[in-house]
Amino acid sequence: MRAAVMYGAGDVRIEDRPDPKIVDPTDAVVRTLAACVCGSDLWPYASMPATDTGRPMGHEFLGVVEETGADVTGLTAGDLVVAPFTYSDNTCDYCAKGLHISCRNGGRYGFDGVDGGQGEAVRVPYAAGTLVKLPVAADSALYEQGPIGPAAFMRNITMTGGASPARAYIPELLADVLDGSITPGHVFDKTFTLDRTPDAYRAMADRQVLKALIRP
Ligand SMILES: [Zn+2]
Repeated sequence: MRAAVMYGAGDVRIEDRPDPKIVDPTDAVVRTLAACVCGSDLWPYASMPATDTGRPMGHEFLGVVEETGADVTGLTAGDLVVAPFTYSDNTCDYCAKGLHISCRNGGRYGFDGVDGGQGEAVRVPYAAGTLVKLPVAADSALYEQGPIGPAAFMRNITMTGGASPARAYIPELLADVLDGSITPGHVFDKTFTLDRTPDAYRAMADRQVLKALIRP
């Protein structure tokens, strides 16, 4: 698959990476429909020391479940899902308090062998606890044109400026997005193809774009 990898400050490349596969029985593989460049991606873009190995980038994405591990409940292939910016089990004591970013089994995309969201697919650990299923089909008109919009929800995740308990917010806000009360997709002011992700970083870093949407 194609995915964005950062090799140092100002150095984002699109390259071929191994196709995600189920590793743990709690994993799901999600084919990415939309991702974006987060304001927090600009921090390493400005300061990351050069590395030979690179770091897969992106932690906000929306996609279709392609495959689920044996222990994943509540999700099946074909489901449209949104991913919060960290993964979490949604069952530990921290998650129970809505503090999913402190999950005892949680972690970040792009680290520890987990893919980033700016790519064609992602292996999502603890998929049942992490992913929120959207009650529309991936090919529905609602998804393409309605208030849910491409990459809806991401504004909430990204405009909060850091360690937001996004996973706890999403179910509560989902109804407002679906009925059109809020249209978070309006935050995106430019769309880039995956191959142009380096341009998206540059445009946001140069303040030419507020929020870039990435379409694999
Ligand atoms: Zn947890």
